[in-house]
Amino acid sequence: MIIVLKNNADAQKVEELKQTLTGKGFKLHLSQGENTTIIGLIGDTSNISEDWLYAKDVVDSVKRIKEPYKKANRDMHPSDTVVDIGGVKIGGGSFAVIAGPCSVETRPQMIEVAEDVKSSGAQLLRGGAFKPRTSPYSFQGLGSEGLKLLKEAKKATGLPIVTEIMQIGHLDLFEDVDVIQVGTRNMQNFELLKELGKTKKPILLKRGMANTLEELLMSAEYIMAGGNEQVILCERGIRTFETSMRNTLDISAVPMLKKKTHLPVIIDPSHAAGLKFMVEPLTMAAIAAGADGVMIEVHNNPEKALCDGMQSLTPKMFDDLMNKVKKTVPFFGKTMAAQVPVNR
Ligand code: PEP
Ligand code: MN
Repeated sequence: MIIVLKNNADAQKVEELKQTLTGKGFKLHLSQGENTTIIGLIGDTSNISEDWLYAKDVVDSVKRIKEPYKKANRDMHPSDTVVDIGGVKIGGGSFAVIAGPCSVETRPQMIEVAEDVKSSGAQLLRGGAFKPRTSPYSFQGLGSEGLKLLKEAKKATGLPIVTEIMQIGHLDLFEDVDVIQVGTRNMQNFELLKELGKTKKPILLKRGMANTLEELLMSAEYIMAGGNEQVILCERGIRTFETSMRNTLDISAVPMLKKKTHLPVIIDPSHAAGLKFMVEPLTMAAIAAGADGVMIEVHNNPEKALCDGMQSLTPKMFDDLMNKVKKTVPFFGKTMAAQVPVNR
């Protein structure tokens, strides 16, 4: 980190700043100009914020050389992290597909969709039990009853399950959940992230719809700093000025994240587009961009879905898509993850 001091800064205050910084364990590299001094801060600057420095009277500007995230940084861990969900691998060349309805609605719906996506080749089953809805009058999910149905579908098919947590008080209910999802609206719920850092479960962290990649990586860092390094990042579309789609899929996020971090990166084309006809092209784009997987909403009767029917594929559409995915993934140098039944 480089700190440029103000011209003719008060010598006493400069001395105080230098002492504070050495007291924090940094080595200082001073470059004294005619009027200005530049301090090069040598050491781990991840726990120093720019704001803290700007609050000092003598500081003119601050430039961070190193990213503020450590554990998520590829510099610290050059090889890809592979998240292993009971044998289903995401990352390190292994491409996994998570599929299922937006929301868990009924037992027959859940079992039927689970069996369908399994026979098409999905490795993981999704379904929301606690739903973050924009309107308090919309279907809010079945809650703990939904989790029970999801677990029944897991038992029936052997597919590991992925579902969203909205508050930490629910964590006990997630004991048999294989991957805990943090949705776009909770990406910066730091207390939730800290608690998930204490768990041993893989976490699917979705990018906030108005957050930068650095903010996404800092949220991953919260989980990792707590000791849980099993984090899968998910780009699910961001807010832009475009209104013809639900969100704009930031496909550039994939190669950029793969450069900055060793964590696996997946794409959610369903929430990105909000329209079923776009799910296939966006899935293909995800594979070509180097994603480690996709998460796709599938419903046995999208017209009657209680949530996100417009973007949900029918099982037949999903099956057709999976046939293309299976052919495309090897072309881009990855292999499809194996289906590994979980029996818990
Ligand atoms: C979801 O995956 O069910 C969901 C609510 O997605 P997002 O948080 O990306 O809107
Ligand atoms: Mn949805």
